[in-house]
Amino acid sequence: MRQVILFILLSIISCSFLLSQDLQTDIFKNDKHELKINFVGHASLFIELDGKITHIDPVFRMGDYSNYPKADLILVTHHHSDHFDLNAIEILKKDETKIVFTQECYEMVENLSNIIIMKNEDVLRINHMTIEAVPAYNIIHRNEHGTPYHPKGQGNGYIIKTDFKTLYIAGDTEKIPEMKTFPKIDIAFLPANLPYTMSLEMVARVARIIRPKIIYPYHYDYTQASTLKELLKNQKNIEVRIKDMK
Ligand code: ZN
Ligand code: ZN
Repeated sequence: MRQVILFILLSIISCSFLLSQDLQTDIFKNDKHELKINFVGHASLFIELDGKITHIDPVFRMGDYSNYPKADLILVTHHHSDHFDLNAIEILKKDETKIVFTQECYEMVENLSNIIIMKNEDVLRINHMTIEAVPAYNIIHRNEHGTPYHPKGQGNGYIIKTDFKTLYIAGDTEKIPEMKTFPKIDIAFLPANLPYTMSLEMVARVARIIRPKIIYPYHYDYTQASTLKELLKNQKNIEVRIKDMK
C-alpha cells in the first residue's frame, strides 16, 4: 500500500514537473483576475483566464497536447497545417468544448460537433470573453502566381476582450489598414517570418500603430526576434517579450 501511494505521489510530481519543464508560462494578476499565457510553439498557445482554458491554433507537432489541459474553447485562425490540426483538437476536446473555425477549416472536417464559424468582423461572447474576428492577410507577399499567401477574407486574427486584459492574436497577417481601427490592446502576438507574414521591421511598424503594452513576436522561423527589441527601443510604453515560438 505504501509503495502504491509513493508511486502515485511520484507520478504526480513528475507529471507536474514535466508540464512545467515543457511549457513557458507568463502570469498576469490583479486582485480579481488571473491570466496565464502558455507558449507551446510557433502559432500554438493557450490561455487560462479565471480557470477557463482557451487553446489557440493547437498543433501537435508544436507540443505534447496529451499533457496540456483540455479546452473550454478552441480558436483556429486559418486552415494551414501550422495552425490547424485535427489530432490536437480531438485530444483537447471535451463534450462541451466550443470550436471556432474559419469557413475553410469547417469544409475540411466531418463529424465534429460544437463548431462555430467566424468570419472577419464577427463577434462572439463566450466564457466572460468577447472575441472579435479581425482580418489577417497579405498585401505585399505573394506566391509565384501572384496570389497572396493569405488572401483577404480567409483567415482570422482574434481580439479577445476580457474584464482584465485585451489580447490580440494576429494569425498570419501583414500590416493591414484595419489595424488603425483596433481597440486598445494590452498584449499582442505578432507573426514574424518571411515570406508568409512580416519582417521584424514591419512588426515594429504594426507595434507603432496598435501600441500594445506587451508584444510577443511569434510564428517565426529564422528571423532574430530579439532584433525587435532594438527596433522598438525608443517606444518606452511597449515591452517586447521573447519566447521560444519558432
Ligand atoms: Zn498561414
Ligand atoms: Zn502560419
